[in-house]
Amino acid sequence: MTDYRHHLIDGAWMAAQSAQHTTVYDSATEAQLANVAHGTNEEIHLAVRAAKNAFAAWSTLPVNVRADYVRAIADQLEEHVEHLAAGIAAEVGMPLKLSQRIQVQAPLLAWRATADLAAQCLADSSVGHSTITHVPVGVVGAITPWNYPLNQITGKVAAALVAGCTVVLKPSELAPCTAQALGEAALAAGLPKGVLNIVLGDAATGQALVDHAEVDMLSFTGSTAVGRRIAASAGQALKRVALELGGKSACIATADAPIDNVVRQGIGSRLPNSGQSCNSLTRLLVPAALYDQYRDLLAQAVTRLTLGDPRDAATRMGPLVSAAHRDRVQAFIVDSEARGYDLIAGGSNAALPVHGYFIAPTIFGRVPAQSTLAQQEVFGPVLSVITYDDEQQAIDIANGTAYGLAAAVWAGSTEHALHIARQLRAGQVDVNGAPYNAAAPFGGFGDSGLGREGGTFGIEEFVELRAIQLPVARTQENA
Ligand code: NAD
Repeated sequence: MTDYRHHLIDGAWMAAQSAQHTTVYDSATEAQLANVAHGTNEEIHLAVRAAKNAFAAWSTLPVNVRADYVRAIADQLEEHVEHLAAGIAAEVGMPLKLSQRIQVQAPLLAWRATADLAAQCLADSSVGHSTITHVPVGVVGAITPWNYPLNQITGKVAAALVAGCTVVLKPSELAPCTAQALGEAALAAGLPKGVLNIVLGDAATGQALVDHAEVDMLSFTGSTAVGRRIAASAGQALKRVALELGGKSACIATADAPIDNVVRQGIGSRLPNSGQSCNSLTRLLVPAALYDQYRDLLAQAVTRLTLGDPRDAATRMGPLVSAAHRDRVQAFIVDSEARGYDLIAGGSNAALPVHGYFIAPTIFGRVPAQSTLAQQEVFGPVLSVITYDDEQQAIDIANGTAYGLAAAVWAGSTEHALHIARQLRAGQVDVNGAPYNAAAPFGGFGDSGLGREGGTFGIEEFVELRAIQLPVARTQENA
């Protein structure tokens, strides 16, 4: 068992003041894995002070120098790929091989890509007689969730650092190994003291960061409920805020879509983190006339998702992050069974491994579009199949939740799918199985948040624009 009892403040590890902590359990064995200290208001204050003091020097370094530090952090993290992949697999439940690729290698690429994009993204430009310059926002308070811990930290911290901001990070208390490794990497990379501070803790620690008067911007990824409170607090103080929140994303399959591909991707690649992904396509919209075909193929496909310990090579789907989260997901399933939806696979009585926070991959069919199951984020391996009569109805159903994070369209041709994609109110729309693109903007409409992460769009979140008007030459002035 690991004790995470130190915060990174002003370039050094400081022993936590408070004995209060969260205990983290191995998601597959339920054994105690770690204790994570809860940072106090004073520790948040010290960290914000350190970030504020470091800002003047860091924000005026040449952008290429800041980018080199970010690359050096990635190089240091690279030394710990195995350790991080194993740690995240145990904490979150993602199968180890996927954890290595998605939870660790992908964010390492993003650290480096962010460094590579910085100079071009932050270069001055001209509009008429104005020179447009990019000014780092200041001290950023970054708060992250547990489901893709290094990815979400990277989306904020790498972008904020190259932009010239200094950072206080409050990572999730349920996935602590990443933040510890990041702190070590920052020290080994020689990052100037105070540029990146990490305060471990729970909701109260996060709240102290949100409320701190000397934080200039809040960048939050997590639930919509918490995001709403953070936005309200930021609004009161007129702080800049970026929010990456929940989703209830739809995949529309048209009548001419390749059913096998829709099913394979709908099951195989959409539930790799046991449905604990904000952009999971948890609503599958199929033509009513094809429902029976989809039903049979989905029921077959789900049998290939072997449940087990994330460290077992045969495992295709691991457990959920915690007992509390497992119980929350289970409550959605029990409620949906009571309402009599067509249970295609899984359900509350499915066989499960003896230990671990498992939920069987579960599919409900003929789910009403306005039902709780089709409207609320479950954040577990639960797919709702919804039928529609014509494509306009499918588009209306897809757009008919409070969220707007992601969507997908499968159709007989790219043109057909694109025609539908252009009508979907979501931050990312995949056409005919197109893969994820880390350089594209990621973020949502409506209850899915404010702002974007990824590529140059993510760096731009952390700068103010300053227009410097230059004197106009006399000839132009007279023209
Ligand atoms: P959460 O909102 O419970 O917690 C997220 C973080 O906020 C944690 O670090 C937590 O300690 C902190 N926190 C909680 N209450 C706080 C408060 N009052 N003030 C300040 N900080 C507070 O979310 P979670 O359970 O960790 O993550 C799951 C949620 O995150 C899901 O809703 C999911 O959709 C969302 N998510 C969104 C994205 C995206 O990019 N849009 C990505 C991943 C996860």
